[in-house]
Amino acid sequence: MRSHHLSLILSSKISNSSIDENLCQVDYFDGRLTFKKYGKISEWRSIQFHFHHPAEHHVDGIIYDAEMHMVFQGVTHEKEVSVLGLLFEANDDVEEDQFLKSMHLDQLEHPVSSKGGLNIDLKSLYGNLEGYQTYNYPGSLTMPPYTECVNWNIFTKPRQIPSKQLKALEDMWGGECYPQCFRGNSRFVFDHGIRTVREIKHTNKK
Ligand SMILES: [Zn+2]
Repeated sequence: MRSHHLSLILSSKISNSSIDENLCQVDYFDGRLTFKKYGKISEWRSIQFHFHHPAEHHVDGIIYDAEMHMVFQGVTHEKEVSVLGLLFEANDDVEEDQFLKSMHLDQLEHPVSSKGGLNIDLKSLYGNLEGYQTYNYPGSLTMPPYTECVNWNIFTKPRQIPSKQLKALEDMWGGECYPQCFRGNSRFVFDHGIRTVREIKHTNKK
């Protein structure tokens, strides 16, 4: 397995946020992402994050309950986008997830638009991880215009969260299916064709 260094600097304070009526998208510009791959460093700057219910990426046929996409615009590669995908799985034996709690998803109405007021605890998401693995492949945006410009990185380990916290996401999209989606706001899955999906081991050295 290849080992790469990925460093992620996230600010927990989100000064300007908005909730998109379809996506629950949070604009977020304070995050930095650095990849070190074969000695080459690439820099990326966060733009937004949003959720899908159910998950868009299926792993060995498993469809997880939800998926978060944190989207970064390339600084080194201006026309490219990197997305960190995090899968969520219901587990009622675990404590409430602090990150999702800080989003106050249960208080959102759909459709909704709001400015400010969120103080999201992003550090509880990726903080203190020494090492982890991702599935990496070159792909497209999962929404129009579906541009083939995305460096996808999906954390292999789904995050376990109590089902009551998933309910807010389910309530938002559970009852409808958006265009080009198989359920909720998750796009139909396509064959990976000639693309290679790699499992990559990351170290998160300070
Ligand atoms: Zn997405």
